[in-house]
Amino acid sequence: MSGGEVRAALREHEVKAMVAAAGVPVPRGVVVRESDVAGARESDFAVARGLAEPLVLKAFGPGLVHKSDAGAVRLGLRADELAAAAGEMRARLDGLLVEGFLVEEQAPAGVELIVGLVGDPGFGPVLLVGLGGIWTEAMRDTALRLCPISERDARLMLDSLRGSALLRGHRGRPPVDLDAVVKLLMTVGGPGGLWERLELGEFELNPVIATPSGVTAVDARHLPGPAAPRPSVPREPADFLPLFEPRAVAVVGASATRPNFGNMFLDFYRAAGVPLVAVHPTAAEVAGVPAVPSLAAAEVDYALVAVPADRCAEVVRQASGIPYVQVMSGGFGEAGRTDLERGLAEAARAAGTRLVGPNCMGVYCPRGRQTFVGGGIGPAGSVALISQSGGLAGEVIKVGERRGLAFSRVVTVGNSADVTPAELLSWLARDTETRAVGLYLEDPRGGRELYEALGAAGLPVALLVGGRSSQGRRAALSHTGGLVGDLRVWEAVAAQTGTALVSSQDDLIGVLAFFQAHGSRVTDGDGVLVIGPSGGAGVLAADAFDRAGVRLDPLPEGVLDGLGAAAPGNPLEVPVGPRGRPGLVPEVIEAVVRRRPYGDVVAHVNVQSFFTYGDAAEPLYAYARALAGAQEALPRVRITLVTRNGECAPPGVEDEVRRIAAAAGIPVYRTMEAAAVAVAAGGRRGAA
Ligand code: ADP
Ligand code: MG
Repeated sequence: MSGGEVRAALREHEVKAMVAAAGVPVPRGVVVRESDVAGARESDFAVARGLAEPLVLKAFGPGLVHKSDAGAVRLGLRADELAAAAGEMRARLDGLLVEGFLVEEQAPAGVELIVGLVGDPGFGPVLLVGLGGIWTEAMRDTALRLCPISERDARLMLDSLRGSALLRGHRGRPPVDLDAVVKLLMTVGGPGGLWERLELGEFELNPVIATPSGVTAVDARHLPGPAAPRPSVPREPADFLPLFEPRAVAVVGASATRPNFGNMFLDFYRAAGVPLVAVHPTAAEVAGVPAVPSLAAAEVDYALVAVPADRCAEVVRQASGIPYVQVMSGGFGEAGRTDLERGLAEAARAAGTRLVGPNCMGVYCPRGRQTFVGGGIGPAGSVALISQSGGLAGEVIKVGERRGLAFSRVVTVGNSADVTPAELLSWLARDTETRAVGLYLEDPRGGRELYEALGAAGLPVALLVGGRSSQGRRAALSHTGGLVGDLRVWEAVAAQTGTALVSSQDDLIGVLAFFQAHGSRVTDGDGVLVIGPSGGAGVLAADAFDRAGVRLDPLPEGVLDGLGAAAPGNPLEVPVGPRGRPGLVPEVIEAVVRRRPYGDVVAHVNVQSFFTYGDAAEPLYAYARALAGAQEALPRVRITLVTRNGECAPPGVEDEVRRIAAAAGIPVYRTMEAAAVAVAAGGRRGAA
């Protein structure tokens, strides 16, 4: 359990009374306290006579958490067997304090589910449902959502279970009462549900027995814990335009004698041509840039601070009148110096400036001549990036631009002591220059705010999370705690907000390239058609799309009549090569989508086949041009190109293909896997 002490767990019957009051069906039962028991006498259990047999006997006491493991549960008892069973149980639990017994009616057998809540320290209350009972850990078949959930969420959660067939009636068994399961999920995790009233901790009903006639929670645990973040009303973001497009920039920390990190930035900015001033205690100029002694004397919209950590607060205190100060220096919270970080945030507040960082790299915005990467500034575009890591942002900019991305705004946020990714996302979502956002994050601090910003964003977002783990992070007392790992919570956040969760830097760039090319395209159809040469590659393509969660719907009958193409399948095999007719693939695409409007068409070529017998770049370009023509003729279909085996082309050829495709708004990938991930992300977006 993270976050300090856990208060004593409530007893099962106490938790059951609470959930019953909330409307969760529980078995009828009575409590027999040890203090009331004179010995194992039958009369002590007379109170159980009003219950319908068979009966269940459970011992309770402070050390009894997993009761069946300890031998503290007996099923299938008659009333006249209770006293003896209790005596045996007490003997077996020798050494554990038994406070008393819960006697309850035994619910009929059915499908056993687990329904739980965890207070995630970053994201707040999380609801979990899964196939449960004693198999919970072994099956690990669970679905998570942040609270509150909608009824649609509840149904999607159940559908997403691998074992969902068990609920819908499997091998001749009748289906369970799904509406009752949904109602239970809403009672626990829906608006006004139990999650709002409980101190979480952990809470779980395991098992809930679902049958054709309803649900019964036959076990209940609640471990109160430290308060988790709650939903909040998203705040109005600051106006970040001066951060991205400052009229003038100050750099604090460049040396007049020994060039350092700060000097590198002076060089970048000088090359970018933005009005610039250096802050230096004594020099009149630094590396040819005019200098002033203090930020107080700098008339700029943005100041970049690169002085040692213990001097940053003092610099920031002088930033009054400057809307944005970015502290690049490390040595704050990430190095255990939360005191310095707090001091920095306080200094910013006192100066009335907004603080970006510390422990980051800067801002990149071609329109605003803002940069923190060498090698010049790239073209202005529509893709934004918020990155916790400065180094990674630099790579995404450079590699992304090489692959055709054009950025609107990039900001590195480091420790986010003041300005948060959520606040920036809320602003970028309304920024007219930005049409898609990439996020790289490493910790879920401020997760709740981020979740709400993602939900409200209304533009495509790709999210890469570093350092996530599939391990349960809590030394949990409940099953739920052990099943809720960081990765699972991020997946829930993505599913609920329509965010594309990616798992590598390559895929982040690839998905952003897809959003850039196709983000504003409205498609008439749905589904994906894959088209290209070679049966084997097609078979592997189907596997790649399958792994990415995309089904390739078959072609309708008769679609290819008169086209002389190969057998109608999806992937569809059509010859493409140096001697083929470049227009064949586009013709087939147009013919197919007229009959069956696919939303996405993925065309692939084997680049190697063009270059095995000499330098056949022109036929490849002709193919790319024909495909570009198809995209222009079919504005409501998203065409994507995969140039397989591109390394077999002479230098420059792939770039030219990419250029031809990009001019028509076609994104290009080198592998089917990368294309599948991007198409899946684009499709999920449309479905959200
Ligand atoms: P544990 O603390 O080990 O989780 P439970 O209260 O969940 O103990 O009981 C163990 C198992 O016994 C449950 O998983 C369920 O299969 C069964 N069980 C417990 N109570 C009942 C009941 N009232 N009706 C039917 N089955 C029950
Ligand atoms: Mg249980």
